[in-house]
Amino acid sequence: MLSFWEKNSFQNFDFIIIGGGITGLSCALSIKKYFKKSKIAVLERGFLPSGASTKNAGFACFGSFTEILDDYENIGKDKSLKLIEDRVRGLELLIKMLGKKSIGLENNGGYELIFKHNKALLDHLPQINKDLKDIFPKNAFTNQSDKISDFGFKTVKRLIYTPYESQVDTGKMMYNLIEEVSSKGIFIFTGTEVEKFKDHGDNVWVKLNNKIELTCNRLAICTNAFVKKFLPELDVKPGRGLVLVTKPVEKLKFNGSFHFERGYFYFRNYKDRIIFGGGRNHFIDEEETTSNEINEKILEILKDKLNTVIAPKKKTEVDYAWTGIMAFGSNKSPIVDKISQNVGLAVRLGGMGVALGTLAGQKIASLLTGQ
Ligand SMILES: Cc1cc2nc3c(=O)[nH]c(=O)nc-3n(C[C@H](O)[C@H](O)[C@H](O)COP(=O)(O)OP(=O)(O)OC[C@H]3O[C@@H](n4cnc5c(N)ncnc54)[C@H](O)[C@@H]3O)c2cc1C
Repeated sequence: MLSFWEKNSFQNFDFIIIGGGITGLSCALSIKKYFKKSKIAVLERGFLPSGASTKNAGFACFGSFTEILDDYENIGKDKSLKLIEDRVRGLELLIKMLGKKSIGLENNGGYELIFKHNKALLDHLPQINKDLKDIFPKNAFTNQSDKISDFGFKTVKRLIYTPYESQVDTGKMMYNLIEEVSSKGIFIFTGTEVEKFKDHGDNVWVKLNNKIELTCNRLAICTNAFVKKFLPELDVKPGRGLVLVTKPVEKLKFNGSFHFERGYFYFRNYKDRIIFGGGRNHFIDEEETTSNEINEKILEILKDKLNTVIAPKKKTEVDYAWTGIMAFGSNKSPIVDKISQNVGLAVRLGGMGVALGTLAGQKIASLLTGQ
């Protein structure tokens, strides 16, 4: 039971945010910008954010060439272009919020590996560049296949380059984001899982899994793939992502970020290590889960591609692997909306939430506060 003092000082907040990932923390910062004296609490069930924000691969990307083509087919050109624009704006916002150094930003460009089976897709390259001309000052994608042998790749037929993709240091970014939030006097309660909430009109009641009850004036749900606990009907599906990191590789030949198979595989260097993730598309049903277990079959696929495509001439050793949980749906856009008078949500950030999280957090803050 809470003490008299605890009830007085820790039970009622102006704003509560459920979820301490990039979206929830960005939401908290956006609110604080306009309501400097407001009392804000971020409630995070894990010791650290336990979804995707500290687990991702650190690509500051807007979509690879074949992924954009895939999006054109699935959601149409206009929605695809809007998403790209949002990712670019989101990354700009992230940089503005924390600074390049604080997120470990390195602009080494991005490349897509094209193989024999999807070479025909290159016919669409001029059109995609034309469609992106309002978003990027120069051609978004150019052919840099001459680098294939420099990088030491095998079975790769073409390499498509974009100068507009960067890498971040995910750990550094989240560390500094948490520090920034804390420095503004926003409370982050970790190890704090929300069980349920109810909008009573004059306030919102929030019940934690340890039976403690809190209230607030406005509530933001930023729990991404875990939102179905509160809203089972919402169009959100979890998608587990697996990432491995190699031990340092001697004379690693590439520096930058790389994608293949419509963005389903992605790798980059971190200093002299390779960080490589993806493969979810090979087991799409099995990976629709919030469990953090490692799917050994996917790990084997990644190891095989590492040895046959990415670094075939090197003796790469996997140091370890981890998983994180993303959120997808029938539509690739995040869901940012109010669900009652005082409650809103910003969820379903997909596979490019580093780019979209700040923007989604800012949007839900604005919907809840009217700023
Ligand atoms: C393996 C992997 C690789 C990725 N790579 C990239 C990449 O390179 N580039 C990129 O742009 N994006 C990448 N992403 C996607 C990106 O990380 C996410 O889209 C983004 O982090 C989502 O942020 P979020 O804050 O919305 O969600 P999350 O980070 O998932 O945060 C939601 C938080 O809510 C908490 N929570 C859930 N339920 C409750 C509850 N009931 N009570 C309290 N807290 C709760 C969770 O613990 C979690 O911390 C990747 C994701 C994964 C998993």
